[in-house]
Amino acid sequence: MTSSVPGELPPTSRPGRLGVGVVGAGRVGAVLGSALRAAGHSVVGASAVSADSRDRIDALLPGVPVLEVPAVVERAELVLLTVPDDALAGLVRGIADTGGWQPGQIVVHTAGRYGTAVLEPALRAGAIPVALHPAMTFTGTSIDLSRLVGCPFAVTAPAPVLPIGQALVVEIGGEPVALPEEARPLYHAALAHGANHLVTLVTQAMRALARAGVDEPGRYLTPLLTAALDGTLRDGELALTGPVLRGDAGTVAEHVASLVALAAEDPGLADLPPAYRTLARVTTQRAWAAGRLTDATAELLLDAVADAGAAGYDAAPAAVGQRGALTEDVAPTPAAAPDAVARDRAGAGPVLVRSREDLRAALHPQTGTRAVVMTMGALHEGHLDLVREARRRADHVVVTIFVNPLQFAPGEDLDAYPRDLEADLAKLAAVGADVVFAPDPQTMYPDGDPSVRVEPGPVATRLEGLTRPTHFAGVLTVVLKLLHLTRPDVALFGQKDAQQLALVRAMVRDLDLDVEVVGVPIRREPDGLAMSSRNAYLAPDQRRSALSLSAALRAGTAAAAAGPEAVLAATRAVLAAQPGVEVDYAELVDPETMEPVPAGRGGRALLAVAARVGSTRLIDNAILDLGE
Ligand code: AMP
Repeated sequence: MTSSVPGELPPTSRPGRLGVGVVGAGRVGAVLGSALRAAGHSVVGASAVSADSRDRIDALLPGVPVLEVPAVVERAELVLLTVPDDALAGLVRGIADTGGWQPGQIVVHTAGRYGTAVLEPALRAGAIPVALHPAMTFTGTSIDLSRLVGCPFAVTAPAPVLPIGQALVVEIGGEPVALPEEARPLYHAALAHGANHLVTLVTQAMRALARAGVDEPGRYLTPLLTAALDGTLRDGELALTGPVLRGDAGTVAEHVASLVALAAEDPGLADLPPAYRTLARVTTQRAWAAGRLTDATAELLLDAVADAGAAGYDAAPAAVGQRGALTEDVAPTPAAAPDAVARDRAGAGPVLVRSREDLRAALHPQTGTRAVVMTMGALHEGHLDLVREARRRADHVVVTIFVNPLQFAPGEDLDAYPRDLEADLAKLAAVGADVVFAPDPQTMYPDGDPSVRVEPGPVATRLEGLTRPTHFAGVLTVVLKLLHLTRPDVALFGQKDAQQLALVRAMVRDLDLDVEVVGVPIRREPDGLAMSSRNAYLAPDQRRSALSLSAALRAGTAAAAAGPEAVLAATRAVLAAQPGVEVDYAELVDPETMEPVPAGRGGRALLAVAARVGSTRLIDNAILDLGE
């Protein structure tokens, strides 16, 4: 592993300097190799297949020998793998198979979507794995070197090695940002959506502008697009201007008509009208969800987009899989409800309604039975199980999404509670909800906090009620209101919130409500963690600690035959053994009254646990049979 580059000292004779080998001298490899060299390291070899790569080595890494991959790996102390994403895993394995990796060798790859798991074969041979990804687009020329200065780099590596990756980035002028392994695919998707799709969007705009007779569309667009981009990067959606925000539905309709006419003339722009309509619709929905458009204006805009052409591209996200080719040949789907909001989603996704009036209008045409699933959004498969069960039990399914302030005490996570209406709608479209009622607090509580509330009684004072004394009054009050507003035959609730389910059943019984309450089993992640919207708060190490809740329930359940005391001892022992988990309660109770099960009692019992992992409060439970 010594340098043989003319004019450079061997790396070992220059303290702290490494011999760098570049495998895959594409744009990124050549540029990073050159930057590492400028930082004082030696580039001891580069592999290059294409003529372009060889030219790049000549230009950016002059004097560096072009070698076969095994020779590069053999002589390098730091191997830079800059091959295409899909080739990376095979390359790392291949080098491992031939015994190429060396103990202590630093192996760096730059594939955005991977962390270091892909480098496992090198790690097994004793190498030090690091994943670096510059959030930058490269030309493969020396211009890129200046772009590295201040460029953010995602750095993923096992904790003890992270400083090595961060130091390398700092050396070449970049800004390291540590990113956990499991976040890499999402991180990369976000970059691709922002940067790569921007290219598609701007290209379409340039081509349309050229067809409108503007000579240098790129130059013409530069000030406008630069201002829009700067504004968005600074202020997010608040930077939005233009006809959607002004509510100019007529203008939007005319845009679509002119783009459809253009696409008919220029087959190369057949994808422009559907792209425009999709983005106009999404822009409308986001502005509306942010409260910047009234219901009526949003409806007019959606109507303009939907009326202006065929419906194939205007379907909600769940219909994506049915769309097929990028043409306008999909027949309009018949409307399921009379208003424009409904028409926009017809045949594809649920009707989204935000006001009481719109809810009434959406429910009015429904004949047959109706089920309701009440949620606070940030939907996961557990929620969707409820919707699937609702589908099986009724002709129509209404899902409510409302983060109910009444059930949060001061200091709880009301403001931080995850909200993503757009993603929720896509998921609900996929499982076949008909109507989504997503009111804001003002709609649910127009006069502020209600003075008349449901009194949940003693069951609400136990378990959750010990630390959240007002919680269930808030829950039952909103459940009762939503039952009145949606008038269902069946209402579905998750066993995950066992005490809530018991209280809803009690309310329905005690207040003579005419609705069937159905409980749905807990949906878990493959490793046992009960699904919860709050799991999103957990850092990776906390998520591992959180597994002790389900593990404790399994231990308790396994001890059922030995009686209540054994169940509790087994459950609490598992929880106590897990650092970072602060237990709130671990109790074995009657599933209806939530009263502790006395020693020696048989029959069904609810084993319920609640614990704080970091600042996240998690609950889980299991029903078990204590025998005769
Ligand atoms: P939330 O949005 O947390 O208020 O939950 C809405 C409904 O989904 C409630 O009836 C919950 O009990 C239910 N639910 C939440 N998580 C799960 C899960 N992991 N499995 C089954 N049901 C769940």
